[in-house]
Amino acid sequence: MSEIEGKKKSYRQRKIGEYRCQCCKQKQEFCWSCPCGFQICKECFEENKWGMSNGPTWICPDCERIRMM
Ligand SMILES: [Zn+2]
Ligand SMILES: [Zn+2]
Repeated sequence: MSEIEGKKKSYRQRKIGEYRCQCCKQKQEFCWSCPCGFQICKECFEENKWGMSNGPTWICPDCERIRMM
């Protein structure tokens, strides 16, 4: 049962590098993404949270769609 801690394996996990953060330009395992193509990783999101997020939602800086977290 220690496998989960080490590799965070999950059958729902997507391929690594499927996302690319538009903020830091790095490939990421996970990004918040918008249908317009905007993607932002968790780290960059945290840095920009004050300007993008409002509780359970965040606003895409590209198209201003309101997105659920
Ligand atoms: Zn990033
Ligand atoms: Zn968007």
